[in-house]
Amino acid sequence: MTVKIYDNPEIWRIDVPLPENPLKNLNSYVIRSQGHMLVIDTGFNRAECRQALWAGLEQLGVIPEKTELFLTHLHSDHCGLVQGFVDRGCRVYLSRLDYEYLRRSREEAGWGYMEEWFRREGFPEEEMERQESGNQARLYAPKAMFPAVEVEDGREIQVGSVRLVCVHTPGHTPGHMALYMPEEQILFSGDHILFDITPNISVWRDVPRSLADYMDSLRKVRRLPVKLTFPGHRKNDGDVYERIDAILEHHRVRLEEILRAVEEMPGTDAYTVASRISWSMRGKAWKDFPPNQKWFAMGETLAHMYYLADAGQLARREEEGLAHYWRM
Ligand SMILES: [Zn+2]
Repeated sequence: MTVKIYDNPEIWRIDVPLPENPLKNLNSYVIRSQGHMLVIDTGFNRAECRQALWAGLEQLGVIPEKTELFLTHLHSDHCGLVQGFVDRGCRVYLSRLDYEYLRRSREEAGWGYMEEWFRREGFPEEEMERQESGNQARLYAPKAMFPAVEVEDGREIQVGSVRLVCVHTPGHTPGHMALYMPEEQILFSGDHILFDITPNISVWRDVPRSLADYMDSLRKVRRLPVKLTFPGHRKNDGDVYERIDAILEHHRVRLEEILRAVEEMPGTDAYTVASRISWSMRGKAWKDFPPNQKWFAMGETLAHMYYLADAGQLARREEEGLAHYWRM
């Protein structure tokens, strides 16, 4: 389904389905001006996504020589189909930081690094094996590394008569970039701000303070004048300032919940904490979570626990390859 969501300049939304994924869909946006097009994000590298995306682009009369692709971040549901654009000779934009992470994770088996990290935080071996096979981010990643123009905060991109500005919003990924249209006060928020789900904030190699980065990025966007926000997934009818406050409040509540859990279980590990706190998984008990959802929950819990450790509210001590936590 391809719908026009803004008139002058023309902005279209292509609804790309994400089968068997709790995110449900990816919003691929197309800005069209003076025969030029900028496509924002693609969907997973799988047939259902490819068909939906290219049917939409063909409906819009895509001309490869006049089309560019902007990737808000490195996640496979956003950049999975990049190769189709590269093959057609389209220029691709991605932040320098996310490009570097993507390149490094492919070259150095970056998943192995994360698995070691999660093991030290108590993630059980049998869950590790189960999550590897069901992890859509791995299954539907781009086939190969691709050439990209590596962008930084403040970089301007021109599409016909439309001017867009890259806004570095680290947190969801280290190099996450929102795109801002200053003349219209429109924000393409990627996965930095979503409206009916909360963006996943995990830990990253060399970025253990991702939650603090994320909250700073939310406050950064709050300072921008924004009339309309187009998010990476699902609905787009909310007020961005209310949503920012709600997301900040969500993390404040979660931090408190984690502090209480550690207080009740002195010397506990992060996996045990993750299994005790409340997740909105349609009423499912922790033991029934799909393994890759446990992986996401683990990353999210760690981001909060490191935040608390930084703030001096939790103590962390590693013994025989396993990290334990105490309330300070
Ligand atoms: Zn994402």
